[in-house]
Amino acid sequence: MKILLSNIPAYIKDPERHYNGAGSQRWSATYKIRKGDPGAAEWKYMEYPFNIGYSTALLKRDTDWTVKAWDPCVLDLDVNDFRSYVKSYSPDILLVEVPTVAFPLMLPILGELKKEVGFKLAVSGPHITGIPEDTMNEYKFIDFGLVGEYELTLRELVNSYSKFPSGFEEIHGLAFRHGDSVKVNQRRMLIDPLDQLPFPDREDLPAQRYEDAVFADTPCIQMLSSRGCPVGCTFCVPIQTMFASSMYRRRSPKEIVDEMILVKDKYGARQVYFDDDTMVINKKHVQAVCQEIIDRKVDLPWSCMGDITIAEDALKMMADAGFCGIKFGVDSVTPQALKAVHKGTVTTDKVTTFVQKCKNLGIKTHASFVVGLPSDTREGVYNMVDYALHLGVDNAQFSIATPFPGTPFFEEAKAKGWLRTYDWTQYDGERTAVLNYPNLSSKEIEELRQYAVDTWFKHMVKTTMKNPKNMMLQIRRRGLKGSITGIKAVMKGKYVLNG
Ligand code: SF4
Repeated sequence: MKILLSNIPAYIKDPERHYNGAGSQRWSATYKIRKGDPGAAEWKYMEYPFNIGYSTALLKRDTDWTVKAWDPCVLDLDVNDFRSYVKSYSPDILLVEVPTVAFPLMLPILGELKKEVGFKLAVSGPHITGIPEDTMNEYKFIDFGLVGEYELTLRELVNSYSKFPSGFEEIHGLAFRHGDSVKVNQRRMLIDPLDQLPFPDREDLPAQRYEDAVFADTPCIQMLSSRGCPVGCTFCVPIQTMFASSMYRRRSPKEIVDEMILVKDKYGARQVYFDDDTMVINKKHVQAVCQEIIDRKVDLPWSCMGDITIAEDALKMMADAGFCGIKFGVDSVTPQALKAVHKGTVTTDKVTTFVQKCKNLGIKTHASFVVGLPSDTREGVYNMVDYALHLGVDNAQFSIATPFPGTPFFEEAKAKGWLRTYDWTQYDGERTAVLNYPNLSSKEIEELRQYAVDTWFKHMVKTTMKNPKNMMLQIRRRGLKGSITGIKAVMKGKYVLNG
């Protein structure tokens, strides 16, 4: 028996829109980029699909099935390539992780393919997790919905598959068909301890081609050291949908450092990026990881997704252990907006102090901001952009506030009549605003976001020009041709800088 676990194609019908399929981001993302355009690859932000990677490794270890993972997104392939590959592989089960933005485009294609190939279709990711019953009622050809964190659910499904079409009532985290109705079983307990999972698969998924938060050198291979975050922002897709919990779970320092050594020795990593929800929220965890790195003399720069709460002594220890950069969310500088999404602990004073501490230790910083949160105003966004310019971070990104199904933010937007559309293809979090507030329209939000991106880009060009060291670093990473092509492309508005 064979199972294929696949990310979605990079291009689904529209060759100018590049989908980033991984389902564990705070926002689903698409990029305006042209297939095959020279320089495109140099500017591509691409998150490693951790859920698929971990599930693949687990199935390879714990089942007797033939297991294959495939990612047309990172391979820059389109929907025709996807069709051909699935047909030629001809799996018994096809597992696809589909984010909200790609759902209406991807599902009809999966329905057609299923008719031709005859596989059972399992769909995972935050969208089906948020609204499993509605989704399976709309797309009657979905056989299984995997709700929430799904590695163990998928393993149980595969190991019970011989019982098909019955026997699925006991599998927690599974949605399945029972006659004409859809049954959604109770959620599975979150995986704890995380060390029961093997290292994620990097044989089928080309680890070196994923790129995020490159603060030092490439290949910058992505890893996880923890899952979860206790803050509980109402918009946060992984916390509110995939985990539906504020529980914070950690891997053991030994396992983490074993994996760092593996990705360095086997896959040539020259930096590791921990794409946790937040790696640093638990001081003991990050200190223990640092101690393990120091004790084992691992010479490999590393960075992480984190937050500004980390204490100075821990930050110093991180720098001593090779820590080179941090991505963190500021989200807004308007206290009412932060309070409205339950992120009331961040203040501009705290952020400014944190960035200065990082600078003193030689740690690079990347801040993310959101345009169009509840209570946002035009003036608030202008203040935010001005604040970003003077903050002294090495990079900044600006997203559009987007309420994804399954989050409290979505329920609030629905209840208060803020949702402009239920056309999921517009839920891209990058260019299209789906919220209309009484005091701020979706059009204004889109304009303000574009203003933020343009202003930041001009600032970056000026800063880079003034700093030959920075320019050399970019050229070393991208190559001269890639750097020039990338800058030209950004100036023409073809690409959105991200990650
Ligand atoms: S702090 Fe970050 S990871 Fe935590 S809930 Fe908020 S957005 Fe999600």
